Amino acid sequence: MTDIRSVSPTLVQKAGQIACRACGHELAAAGEGWKEHAVLDEKPLGDAGGAMFRSEGNVLLRRFYCPSCGTTLDAETALPGEPFLIDRVDWS
Ligand SMILES: [Zn+2]
Repeated sequence: MTDIRSVSPTLVQKAGQIACRACGHELAAAGEGWKEHAVLDEKPLGDAGGAMFRSEGNVLLRRFYCPSCGTTLDAETALPGEPFLIDRVDWS
């Protein structure tokens, strides 16, 4: 039996790999950054959250998609050139 653990609402860990929960596509080895292996869509945050939450300046909205099925895996805000936020889960 393969040990499958929940990493986030969109990701699971199975057989030492971080994988898309929706389609099972393996993105990276557990403990490595998976975002580098996802499809990145990066654009100015602007009024993505609606006019009430309009962001001035150069804040970016980054969305990470599964390269296999297109599911949105995660999203974050960042300034240009900032590294990806790293989510690490350690069960040891
Ligand atoms: Zn997928």
